[in-house]
Amino acid sequence: MAAQIIDGKSIAADLRGKVGEAVHRLVRDRGIVPGFAVVLVGSNPASEVYVTSKVKMTASSGMRSFDHRLPEQTTEDELLALIGRLNADPIVHGILVQLPLPAHIDSQKVLFAIDPNKDVDGFHPVNAGRLSTGLPALTPCTPLGCVYLAKTVRGSLEGLEAIVLGRSNIVGKPLVQLLLNENATVTTAHSKTRDLPGVCARADLVFAAVGRPEMVRQEWIKPGATVIDVGINRVTEGGKSRIVGDVAFAEASQVAGAITPVPGGVGPMTIACLLANTLRAACTIAGYQMPASGMGIENVYGRD
Ligand code: NAP
Repeated sequence: MAAQIIDGKSIAADLRGKVGEAVHRLVRDRGIVPGFAVVLVGSNPASEVYVTSKVKMTASSGMRSFDHRLPEQTTEDELLALIGRLNADPIVHGILVQLPLPAHIDSQKVLFAIDPNKDVDGFHPVNAGRLSTGLPALTPCTPLGCVYLAKTVRGSLEGLEAIVLGRSNIVGKPLVQLLLNENATVTTAHSKTRDLPGVCARADLVFAAVGRPEMVRQEWIKPGATVIDVGINRVTEGGKSRIVGDVAFAEASQVAGAITPVPGGVGPMTIACLLANTLRAACTIAGYQMPASGMGIENVYGRD
């Protein structure tokens, strides 16, 4: 039987709507308008598209957005000075520095200069440490979106066997921590894992984040498994270019219980979770409690 297709576009739109409602309540009841600042250095065309989209979506959810576009030749010191000003600015609650930065700037130094309370990308080691010790943390947006999608299918992830293919700091590792917080039993696989198909075929939940086009095949998938495909890979066939995921979608969807498409699965969730993180940051800075699990993001600021 063909798998349920997990519609990331509509789930993300629904989450953005919930964040928008919570922002409305925060403004109405407390007079706090969450503020999101994005910093782009240089003119990488893909980064410009991402940044424009982030600014547009934050504004449409009722937040303030501050768009800082700096020339390619901006020095590291100039960028650090801007981060310092944004850290100190009380109307800015979330700061995102769009990667990649130009080669003459030390990305790690810049990301570590962001106030962890305003680190809406969740890349600061303080947030990584808080997440891995089970404390409230701002969590990287893509893994947050992956777990959110899996929960729309499974409800609770407790006791399920999950495999995370990939161990990067921005996707694989935080995803593992979020799944542990959801009480899943988690295996992390990487380029040195032996018998990847065999390990993968045990899993009720498969999260693929390797950056290898269509690497995960039908026989890697346990019948009925939920498959969340993070990969974004551009492939060219017969002179035509298209985007594919890390999972061979057509064949995997014959055996999976539910599967995300690429595009239209995890991708749209990333910005929706960025909005949720900005709302969380604004609430935390104002002294409202965040849910400890890192999930339940739509419930951050109460209900009517
Ligand atoms: P990354 O930093 O390159 O990490 C890739 C991971 O995959 C590494 O841990 C690597 O293992 C592992 N890997 C590579 N080849 C493998 C193989 N043949 N078998 C098993 N494991 C293998 O990538 P990333 O930043 O995590 O991104 C992963 C994918 O997600 C990319 O396609 C990226 O474009 C996409 N992505 C999508 C979004 C979104 O919003 N949808 C956001 C971020 C990333 P080692 O550690 O052993 O090298």
